[in-house]
Amino acid sequence: MRYKETKEQSAELLRKVVALMAQHDAAFHPVSFAVWYEFASGTNGRLTHAIERAVQTEPRLGNDTVVRLFQEFVAELDHVAMQRISGELQRMMTGMSDSATRTGDRAGAFGEQLTGLTAALQTNDVPALTSQVAAALAGTAQMKSSALELHEQVLASRQEIERLQADLVRTRDEAALDPLTRVLNRKGFDRQLAFLLEQPLASDSAHCLIMLDIDHFKKVNDTHGHVMGDRVIQALGDVLRSCVSDKGHSVARYGGEEFAVLMPHCTVEHSLKMADTIRQRTKAMKIRDRRTQEVVLTVSISGGVAAMQPGDDAQDLIARADGALYKSKQSGRDRVTCA
Ligand code: GH3
Ligand code: MG
Ligand code: MG
Repeated sequence: MRYKETKEQSAELLRKVVALMAQHDAAFHPVSFAVWYEFASGTNGRLTHAIERAVQTEPRLGNDTVVRLFQEFVAELDHVAMQRISGELQRMMTGMSDSATRTGDRAGAFGEQLTGLTAALQTNDVPALTSQVAAALAGTAQMKSSALELHEQVLASRQEIERLQADLVRTRDEAALDPLTRVLNRKGFDRQLAFLLEQPLASDSAHCLIMLDIDHFKKVNDTHGHVMGDRVIQALGDVLRSCVSDKGHSVARYGGEEFAVLMPHCTVEHSLKMADTIRQRTKAMKIRDRRTQEVVLTVSISGGVAAMQPGDDAQDLIARADGALYKSKQSGRDRVTCA
């Protein structure tokens, strides 16, 4: 379990959590309790950082933001799926072990029969020999069927293990995806970036990061509502997926209406070009009314590009790309800037 506090410590946290929940707009449900509990305990650094960022634009965090924070920083793998998989695996292993025990028991009995047969052979006791041969024959047949049964069970179990393994991979991948846009979520992005930081660089290439943020998105929500806002985020996800086709590159929803593109073994020029292509395609994107097909809105995005420097950790690279994105915002938005 992730919570290690004693009853007294958790009682202290509970008081803080209640105070925090009262300061914000999200309802008093278990999801918001979990978010504020982790925040108050100071054990979830990324959540704390995300909350500190979120309150800058939304001083009283509402349900949507709290639920998003929960999904991105508190929820772990799909526990129901994991429990099902582990249950199936356990059932299968029990079946295998029963079968192996049965075969082992039969092998023991067969061994005794063979010993009896050898003894009868040595004494030349014909009546005993006849019955021992019959018993050994029956034992051989039983061993054959039991070995066959075990063999079939091993084959079936192997297929089952492969199926469960695929299930596990799917569950793990699902846990790294943002449900709205089907690009990586923050957890998936962090994992990918950590992996990237371990990859050695060739002298003529760089690991690059593009950070993108929708311009004046609050106005989109205010004018057209959150549902339309979500459709814009979803459509931007589609644009990103269509632009970033290189298998080694990855797209992530960094949070809210902010996206990140990781481009390993690349050049800054190429990343800037990619960021600008995304910017142009986003600008050309038309969000239509589902009923009348009338174009109801268009959006622009700003971007920041940074390349990894020797000695950088994940935070350094993100901070540099973020800084470049901030410059794009400062100098008028709808543009990309290199750090
Ligand atoms: P700027 O050009 O400076 O980026 O202005 P902005 O209005 O886009 O400002 P900012 O990036 O700070 O605002 C982000 C807004 O995005 C605030 C929040 O309500 C909204 N938002 C975050 N996540 C979601 C979401 O999942 N769906 C919707 N509809 N809105 C979201
Ligand atoms: Mg933003
Ligand atoms: Mg924005």
